[in-house]
Amino acid sequence: MEKIDQKTCPKLWLAVLVGVVLGIVGLVGLRLVMADDHAVHHHANFAIFVNGEREQFESFTYYEEVQACSDEYSGSPLSRVHMHDYVSNVVHVHDQAVTWGNFFENIGFSVGDSVLETADEVFVDDQPEELVYLLNGERVGSVANRVINSEDVLLVHYGSGDEDEIASQLEAIDQDAAGYNERDDPSSCSGSGHDGFWHRLREAVI
Ligand SMILES: [Zn+2]
Ligand SMILES: [Zn+2]
Repeated sequence: MEKIDQKTCPKLWLAVLVGVVLGIVGLVGLRLVMADDHAVHHHANFAIFVNGEREQFESFTYYEEVQACSDEYSGSPLSRVHMHDYVSNVVHVHDQAVTWGNFFENIGFSVGDSVLETADEVFVDDQPEELVYLLNGERVGSVANRVINSEDVLLVHYGSGDEDEIASQLEAIDQDAAGYNERDDPSSCSGSGHDGFWHRLREAVI
């Protein structure tokens, strides 16, 4: 009993030490991977046509530049989903579970089952005028509660409801979200220290 082997003791301690170190490394690694998951940044394409006219989103107020991406905005509705650089067919999604309703609310629009509200007008689905939401080629009800998935294509059509017209409007949407998925946003929006490896490592350790 008393005779604990002098040689196994250090070995035991070494084994414990290695175990602890491996445990810590594993834990940090796991947290790092999970933290990485939170760094959402993907894109979708969309367009709104009202009575044959495409909404151009000309005002600068529709677009976010540096501000919405800065730390003081982090967690705000604007930082979660927005447009950049006067590109009016690309939605930038920076958070989990962002809906089309969130996006349109940010730009002062509203997308209901039978009512479309633009910045200055209200359009009601009422014969002969029809309000159609075409998401990835499929007619759906209101898109307000639908999560914006990467490379989604949304057409909001208000007007004749004519299939040919809807098809040509859909065709007019540049489907370039995949290309944007490969790129950083302007300014600090996606390339900031936020998502940087060392920042994430520090977050994972602390
Ligand atoms: Zn983006
Ligand atoms: Zn952005």
